[in-house]
Amino acid sequence: MVRLVSFTFVLLPLAALAHQEPFSALPHVKSPSKSIAIVGAGSGGLAILKTIFDLPEDVRQGWEVVLYEQRRDVGGVWLPDPPGPLPHFPKLPESPLYPLLHTNTPHPTMTYPGFTYPPLTPLFPSHEYVQQYHADYAEHYNLTAYLHFHHKVVAADWVGDSEQGEWDVVVEVQQPGGPSHVSKRSFDHLIVANGHNHYPHIPQWDGTEGWLANTPRGTPKRQILHSIYYRDPAKYTNRIVVIVGAGASGRDAALQVCKTARLAYQSLTPNSEPTPGATVIPKPRIAYFTNTSIVFEDGTSLEDVDSIILGTGYEFRVPFLSPPHSSVLDVDPDTTYNSTTAPSLVTNFRYIFPTHRHIFSLAPGIPPTALAFVGLPVLVANCPSDIAQSLLIAHVLANPSILPTRADMLEELVKREDKLREAGLDPYYVGHRLVAESETDQDYQDNLVQYLKDVGVLPEDGKKYVEPWRRLGRGKAQLLARAWQRALQLGEDRKWLEGAETEEEWADVMERLAKWQEAYEDEHGIPEFEDQSVWYL
Ligand SMILES: Cc1cc2nc3c(=O)[nH]c(=O)nc-3n(C[C@H](O)[C@H](O)[C@H](O)COP(=O)(O)OP(=O)(O)OC[C@H]3O[C@@H](n4cnc5c(N)ncnc54)[C@H](O)[C@@H]3O)c2cc1C
Repeated sequence: MVRLVSFTFVLLPLAALAHQEPFSALPHVKSPSKSIAIVGAGSGGLAILKTIFDLPEDVRQGWEVVLYEQRRDVGGVWLPDPPGPLPHFPKLPESPLYPLLHTNTPHPTMTYPGFTYPPLTPLFPSHEYVQQYHADYAEHYNLTAYLHFHHKVVAADWVGDSEQGEWDVVVEVQQPGGPSHVSKRSFDHLIVANGHNHYPHIPQWDGTEGWLANTPRGTPKRQILHSIYYRDPAKYTNRIVVIVGAGASGRDAALQVCKTARLAYQSLTPNSEPTPGATVIPKPRIAYFTNTSIVFEDGTSLEDVDSIILGTGYEFRVPFLSPPHSSVLDVDPDTTYNSTTAPSLVTNFRYIFPTHRHIFSLAPGIPPTALAFVGLPVLVANCPSDIAQSLLIAHVLANPSILPTRADMLEELVKREDKLREAGLDPYYVGHRLVAESETDQDYQDNLVQYLKDVGVLPEDGKKYVEPWRRLGRGKAQLLARAWQRALQLGEDRKWLEGAETEEEWADVMERLAKWQEAYEDEHGIPEFEDQSVWYL
């Protein structure tokens, strides 16, 4: 049973909340033997919740675990916005999900270990399957009793020092249709799984206001829209569109919008390529806008563009840890601090530092065990990676002595950053991308789990955490995507899926499909992704 001190009153604006002290007078509930707050019920939050309850019962006896989720259900980015119109900027949608979203990785590689997608799930499923998967996981492992929906953490501050203290956590409870109220209570540990696809990165260019205000007569109203607001390609019918970026969001927008738009351009950074299969005209980066045109870095310009879709990614932010709500995480895109000099945690929007292996805070004023993140790494298979991270967190909560000293963890972090520099990369730009040679997605997970074996809290079974078939599935994701597309075009998709239920059987499907496609491509070459519409049947 969760013990919350609740006070129902008219909801105060958040800025007002931060500047007064309405809660200092509230009685604190002293924690039981160990109290843990988790923020977020996406892949990461569910992973840590399940992993904590996998600890032996006597180890976690007296632990109180509460998961706060601001939305109506589990699934994070895979849970669509509620029906109805999307909010307008600067208000943000709840999720960047768009109706045509399918996974870009085969689902067997996206699973929590030991929990597969249901039989006959398409290999690259639409978003509904992924959300349902998360809901099934929560139910199957009896996690639902710990989930507090419509509970938004608005502030979390550390009251204490580098050795001890507690979290003051402020939660806004918004029951649908009912009044909001704010609750405050203390916790020993805070685990942040708030995701990093929520705060759009919107580049600033000179002249956008003038360009937006000067729609030529007889043409659609000009707009610049981040992909978090992108939903329906039909909205771009007959428009002239510039898609900025070729990452996951830019790629999907390009593939979909090029089918409806009169003309689609894709504005690219020097190292990126136009999206294969998308009928787009490549352009370099945008330099600035005039009232009549968009000027690119090569000096060319376009006068007749109606819409710009920004597939420019997201910023790493944790508002409830940052000013004005909290002093735990400093926000400074131009910070001159580094991991050793930072007086607190810092986000430059690409990197939250200093942390131990992208998990434990190494902020000087907070014990590392007090604050952990799940899900910071980028371009990973989230569920298995979240579980690997969660294993480390859960075992450290059970036995803090297994964590190296802060000084040793900092030394390891500095080594990682130095290695990236040696490879010509800026660690503060690369951030949580696992791009170093020694730090692939899978190696990262293997190393986390191997560490637990080395310190003796997990049995040494001589196996890697990431099974070979997951490596194959991730490594050959594009080949498998082409294979799946071909199977769909031939109407043979169901045939490939039939009988697959266990992890081994799904692994077998991927292996056979990969071989089938390799043989085809040996003979015919790599097919163009000429028509991706088959994904969206
Ligand atoms: C469009 C898109 C497509 C993707 N496609 C793929 C794919 O094909 N394959 C793949 O492997 N990965 C894909 N990903 C990556 C995806 O982000 C991960 O798969 C994973 O679901 C992320 O889970 P998460 O728990 O880390 O974050 P999220 O899913 O973002 O969940 C975070 C949760 O925290 C909650 N929260 C945040 N702040 C608060 C607060 N203050 N109080 C309470 N609750 C809070 C949010 O409401 C949310 O439910 C995609 C991402 C996007 C955006």
